[in-house]
Amino acid sequence: MVAKQRAGKYDAVLPALPALPPENPTYQARVQALKDTVRKVACPSCGDQQVVWGETEERVCGACGGEATPIPIDEPPSAAELVAAYAGRRDEQEQVAATVSRLNLEIEMLSQLIQSSQERKAEGWGDYGVQGNALRLANGDTIRVRKEPYGQVTDKEAFRRWCVAPPDACMDCGEGEAAPGHDVSVDGAHPFHPGGGMERQLQLWPSTMNAVVKERLIAGDPLPDGTTAWAKTKIVFTPSGSVYTGD
Ligand SMILES: [Zn+2]
Ligand SMILES: [Zn+2]
Repeated sequence: MVAKQRAGKYDAVLPALPALPPENPTYQARVQALKDTVRKVACPSCGDQQVVWGETEERVCGACGGEATPIPIDEPPSAAELVAAYAGRRDEQEQVAATVSRLNLEIEMLSQLIQSSQERKAEGWGDYGVQGNALRLANGDTIRVRKEPYGQVTDKEAFRRWCVAPPDACMDCGEGEAAPGHDVSVDGAHPFHPGGGMERQLQLWPSTMNAVVKERLIAGDPLPDGTTAWAKTKIVFTPSGSVYTGD
């Protein structure tokens, strides 16, 4: 049987790109260590075969619910078994994400109730030797309501101009701080308005940079200076019931 090969929009450029090396060698070492332990085992009670990794220990069989040390099987997992194990982990990840999302919502809700309670100076705040912005429970757990400044960009272009302007010249007149025009005790003077000198800390979002690289590859245009293109392999998983829409 000949495998179906879908034409991809990067087919023309991918063969020329080297494979992306692991981006985080420390993490890759952990992945490799776990990979080295992947093996097949069978449940001693029902014979159900599973792909496992990590320590061999007594475990609950997913098929019969029995608790026993699995029996090793001396053959590598098949491709379908690996994918089934992957699908199981993705399913578990989705359930955990749903739980985390519910917890985040509940924590935010309780935070707002606690904040209002503190603003009302409800009973309990400041008891047991803590300050008025704190509440200590009998077990010693303490919560504090604190305010702190919070910055936000309200004019992206003005902020970008400030970032790229040098810190030793006025953005309004181009003069240094000591220029007479900055002596605010004199009529017609204006306050020294230096730039932030942060041009080197500005960068495109990684996703924007990546989109620019991909567009230019397809168009045959030279890549942006200082960038390199690689072929990065990723796995696209489509659980049953959802539709693969391509890439
Ligand atoms: Zn079993
Ligand atoms: Zn000026």
